[in-house]
Amino acid sequence: MGRVTETIDAVAALVAAGGVVVVSGAGLSTESGIPDYRGPTGVARRHTPMTYQAFVGDAAARRRYWARSHLGWRTIVGARPNAGHRAVARLQDAGLVDGVITQNVDGLHTAAGSGQVVELHGRLDTVVCLGCGDRTSRGELDRRLVAANPGFDAAFAVVNPDGDVDLDDDRVAGFRMVDCGCCGAGMLKPDVVFFGETVPAARVARCFAMVDAARAVLVLGSSLTVLSGRRFVLRAAKSGIPVVIANQGVTRGDGYAALRVDAPLGRFLPVLADRVAAVVPPGSGLLAAG
Ligand SMILES: [Zn+2]
Repeated sequence: MGRVTETIDAVAALVAAGGVVVVSGAGLSTESGIPDYRGPTGVARRHTPMTYQAFVGDAAARRRYWARSHLGWRTIVGARPNAGHRAVARLQDAGLVDGVITQNVDGLHTAAGSGQVVELHGRLDTVVCLGCGDRTSRGELDRRLVAANPGFDAAFAVVNPDGDVDLDDDRVAGFRMVDCGCCGAGMLKPDVVFFGETVPAARVARCFAMVDAARAVLVLGSSLTVLSGRRFVLRAAKSGIPVVIANQGVTRGDGYAALRVDAPLGRFLPVLADRVAAVVPPGSGLLAAG
């Protein structure tokens, strides 16, 4: 325990100096009931992740995606921020965190009250028309899908972070997708970055600018498996900006980390925020937030 305490104190000292940019991943949302399929407690994903190419090129694959996603949406929309998200928002209120880059598509950082959040891979609660570009809320699409598929439900046990669920082919075949409500013809896609798709360049540039201006980068709940998130750690390390990684299990960024914490984030982050509150000047928002 002595070693762990020393690590938390070291992380607290770094965070208390301010200028922190958070890079978060699925591990931060597991305690909100959204499983991390790459984490130590996560189950392996049974389906190959949908690629952009399969989604736009294969009507059957698209129907399967939407049928599963329609059911998985119940879990996503019911998820609430956990103590970890709230601790990040608290550090931000205290002026110590300048921004959040998240790989999560669940919107839970914003729901917890964080600002300056870049949702690298988009948000599941927004739907985009690939024909006319119209963006609508997932809630609106959900109402249309419920109307188009009366009585459609299925027992499902596994929900992945992108809202995917297991569903047999017979049920998929009975699912009716709807077209864009604006142009009446366009293909609808969740406004998230699929595998095989690239993050918009302007969004990546904004993230690099945040990292370049940071005094420290704090990685929360990401195994940094995909370059999409890992590149920000590499960028920071190259510039000599200290990187702290808090994640359950090893990550592909561990070799670049000044400090490593292996703990559930819903427990670690409130403790960290308390430690930081003990070292920042009196009168800050952090102390008031208690
Ligand atoms: Zn449209």
